[in-house]
Amino acid sequence: MRVAIIGGGIVGLTTAGFVQAGYFRNADITVLASDFDDTVSHVAAGIFRVGASFCGPNETVTRQWIKDSYEFYDAVRKMDDTSHAGVTDISGYIFANSSQDTVRNHWLESVVPVYRRANEEEFELVNGSWKYGSYFSTLLTQSNLYLPWAKRRLQLNGITFKQRELNSLKELTNDYDIVINCTGLGARKLCDDRRLVSLRGQVLKAKAPWMKMFFYGELDTYIIPGFNGIVTLGGSRNFDSENIKLCPHESAAIRERCETLIPSLKNAEILRQEVGLRPYRDGGVRVGDGSRISNHSKAIIIHNYGHGGYGVCMAPGTSITAVNAAVELHKSTSSKI
Ligand SMILES: Cc1cc2nc3c(=O)[nH]c(=O)nc-3n(C[C@H](O)[C@H](O)[C@H](O)COP(=O)(O)OP(=O)(O)OC[C@H]3O[C@@H](n4cnc5c(N)ncnc54)[C@H](O)[C@@H]3O)c2cc1C
Repeated sequence: MRVAIIGGGIVGLTTAGFVQAGYFRNADITVLASDFDDTVSHVAAGIFRVGASFCGPNETVTRQWIKDSYEFYDAVRKMDDTSHAGVTDISGYIFANSSQDTVRNHWLESVVPVYRRANEEEFELVNGSWKYGSYFSTLLTQSNLYLPWAKRRLQLNGITFKQRELNSLKELTNDYDIVINCTGLGARKLCDDRRLVSLRGQVLKAKAPWMKMFFYGELDTYIIPGFNGIVTLGGSRNFDSENIKLCPHESAAIRERCETLIPSLKNAEILRQEVGLRPYRDGGVRVGDGSRISNHSKAIIIHNYGHGGYGVCMAPGTSITAVNAAVELHKSTSSKI
């Protein structure tokens, strides 16, 4: 049995972990990707905060994905080498003026340990006069630590990694029995999926070790502390833009918005600026399928792509569903042989 996972971002590596840990553990497993070190996943702050608009195929499945994902990262956080894995707990605030709904989150409220209204004193933690505020605790997965850690573990467990760019899924027709497609925005070309759109984002990485909590304001303003005193300042969302060049005006606006919210950030050194294209999919993440790669092929394809701005936090949940679909299909097709 030969299983290929295409994609070396958070979704591909997480899927590979579930493939390796379960029914396919004795299979010959390969992760193929055009790039393992410079993916959209590396740009993400990695906070576990699913947007209220996020949706799976239905409410029950979406809630299951969120629960499975939170429990997965919470378990990693408690492991012995958690500092190398880049997963930690974190807490902070979201403030808004538009409406109380903006600071609530029906997905998160049921899964994180604390989600409550901010009190009067807490409004004083930031600059500005805000009408609405919430405090919550959650998890953070810093991909530039987590991905190398996950890759090492997969390699130790015998998974092969190959750098390879595919022009078509049909290139894998004869080499594998099961292919799981975790190519993010790359799936637009591989699957001719016109529902996939780039949601460009730009962030600044600043040295601000005094920042211990995250803060969200309006206009996509966020300040998210990560490991080693490095804080992500964001952000932006440019729908249908694939410009991967840094925009200095956007950087200046991000800095200004963040410093207005937390004035001490004026003293933070900017270490680097990054751009990433979120794989946003109209209609939600695509998980499943089960068709043959081509008419002449035994290889079955299962998809797991289109996580938009929530791929780090949602990767475990959707990957469990994708791998379960692969197992079921394999069992049903093998029993017919
Ligand atoms: C500024 C910004 C901030 C973000 N913050 C957060 C956050 O705080 N929390 C959160 O949950 N999410 C966040 N996200 C979203 C998150 O980064 C994405 O949802 C996630 O990284 C998508 O992961 P992926 O593995 O699907 O895609 P990618 O990381 O893009 O990986 C795709 C992989 O597929 C490979 N590939 C593509 N095409 C091919 C091909 N033809 N042949 C071979 N290989 C191919 C690529 O080389 C790569 O290895 C943020 C994104 C941005 C841009």
